Amino acid sequence: MRVAYHPDYCIELPPTHPFPMGKYPGVHRLLLEEGVIDAGDVMRPEPAPRALLERVHAREYLDKLETGTLSPAEVRRMGVPWSARLWRRSRLATMGTVLAARAALQDGLAGNLAGGTHHAFADRGEGFCVLNDVAIAVRALQQEGAAGRFVIVDLDVHQGNGTAAIFESDPDVFTVSVHGERNYPLAKMRSTVDVGLADGLGDAEYLETLERVLPDALDRAKAELVFYLAGVDPAAGDRYGKLALTEAGLRARDRCVAAACRQRGLPLVLLLAGGYAPTPERTARLHANTFIEAAAEFGAATAPLPERAARYRPR
Ligand SMILES: [Zn+2]
Repeated sequence: MRVAYHPDYCIELPPTHPFPMGKYPGVHRLLLEEGVIDAGDVMRPEPAPRALLERVHAREYLDKLETGTLSPAEVRRMGVPWSARLWRRSRLATMGTVLAARAALQDGLAGNLAGGTHHAFADRGEGFCVLNDVAIAVRALQQEGAAGRFVIVDLDVHQGNGTAAIFESDPDVFTVSVHGERNYPLAKMRSTVDVGLADGLGDAEYLETLERVLPDALDRAKAELVFYLAGVDPAAGDRYGKLALTEAGLRARDRCVAAACRQRGLPLVLLLAGGYAPTPERTARLHANTFIEAAAEFGAATAPLPERAARYRPR
């Protein structure tokens, strides 16, 4: 399967910063080692051009990002210190999602080894998110005439508040968020479908909920492309998660999403979103599993996988 990746997705943060930058090269390495991708499958993005960013974000906000003139309060809210490298990294990862979306329309399945920065609003960054990559990719594809209707399946444990706000009154973008009800962000925005989960929820109840919500949402959305924010922070032991999914439970979740899309002939874009396991290596493992499960379901791995399915054909 084709994936977008750039070594500069990973930038140096202050040593005490909680964001696990090391997960990006970690996922890339695991997918190569395990034959889910080969070097020829890797698309290398350029920074997303300003004109594209302006289709979603306020000019004043982009000016501040470009010139490093965010206020201290705005930087605190964003949760990552501003630097020229952060600004470039944010545009690289955004373009990675655009490339992955185009590839998924051609191949049925593709991904970005970053992305899913769903707490970014049109006019501000929040919660480690600078630019809303999925919103920008939606607008890029609409502008190109590649696709008009989208569904965003956000299973990161935190509500996709920025995405929900950006698309709240857009009938062409169906947003689904399954998240911890008592977790960040405490002030939830309105997605098309919101499911708030109780703290401590485990595999069985989580998967039952997903089975109840997801097929119906995909049928109602009548979309041409699915963006899947496969945050791995619902995992037990996650620093910010508060849920209790096992590794097997997360894999079942990923398989459930991929199967629901494949059965409907819906092209699928995989995005990392959040994950704060005890080590970046562990976080990378959980993210890699998403790609392994989806590739197996779509029959899209470069090397044969044990559970390889019949090769996907777009409808
Ligand atoms: Zn999250």
